[in-house]
Amino acid sequence: MQRMSLENAKTSGRQAVGNFTLLGQTFSAPSAAPGLHVVATPIGNLGDITVRALQTLAGADQVLCEDTRITRRLTGHYGIATTLSAYHDQNAARVLPTVLDALAAGEAVALVSDAGTPLISDPGYRLVDAARAAGHPVHVVPGASALTGALSVAGIATDAVFFAGFLPTKTTARRKRLEALKDEPATLVVYEAPHRLVACLKDMATVLGDRTAAVARELTKRHEEVVRASLSNLAFEFAGRKAVKGEIVILVERGDDTASEAIDLDALLTDALTGQTMRDAVAAVTAETGLPRKTVYDRALALKGRKT
Ligand code: SAM
Repeated sequence: MQRMSLENAKTSGRQAVGNFTLLGQTFSAPSAAPGLHVVATPIGNLGDITVRALQTLAGADQVLCEDTRITRRLTGHYGIATTLSAYHDQNAARVLPTVLDALAAGEAVALVSDAGTPLISDPGYRLVDAARAAGHPVHVVPGASALTGALSVAGIATDAVFFAGFLPTKTTARRKRLEALKDEPATLVVYEAPHRLVACLKDMATVLGDRTAAVARELTKRHEEVVRASLSNLAFEFAGRKAVKGEIVILVERGDDTASEAIDLDALLTDALTGQTMRDAVAAVTAETGLPRKTVYDRALALKGRKT
């Protein structure tokens, strides 16, 4: 890694204005270029920040963030002392003109959200639009997002993707929205709150059909998991848990994708239980579906119980 020293910053014609600390070493950052810098931050694991993001946050005149307390955890971790100001949907109308004034005065303003990439189901669109309209430079400092993270690990087609953000929270409105998305020839990706996960999966199965899907939970964190199964089996799996916690992305295979058909857990188990021990059948179906072994085992027990 190249050490950013005061000398480096000076020879590049820009004053070093801030420091950041990385792996125990302190680096000086040159002042960021004038304009708005849209900076991605980690989605859980603080290590998932880019060197450019650290330089930009340390070298900016101010950092706009949704919640200063949350962003301070990040800037504090990396020893960044740049002033943090709140910018969110509720204060946007009041704060936006002052940000435009700062940009007009030649300031470097960084925009972050609580986690991940700003503007992706997060504030910032109106600010970027206004900054562009006023002729100010807008720079991207790309990085983590739950959207791309989930797509990277779900094993569901990524050639065409429809990102629908958060679906409506009420069933009627959610089903209506899903109806409108049903024929999109693309993998459908949505963000969902843990307490609505099961209801959302059930609505998806009803409206979209029992397609293969994945639930990507707590990405980059200690309890990271990706569970892939049919929508109805995912609903069954998560309904069986005491409480679903954490942050969640749901990915649903496109309707016309015949490459991987929805998994019918009961049919697979019934088949596997014929002529095999319960243990072997559960092992085979666990391997085939990717569902947690306990889910498959509990279902096998229920099927056995139904037979006797
Ligand atoms: N801008 C962020 C991004 O780029 O991913 C998303 C912000 S949105 C307000 C927050 C939602 O993103 C969460 O409710 C969850 O659906 C998803 N999310 C954020 N972090 C996540 C993680 N570590 N694992 C899974 N989903 C996550």
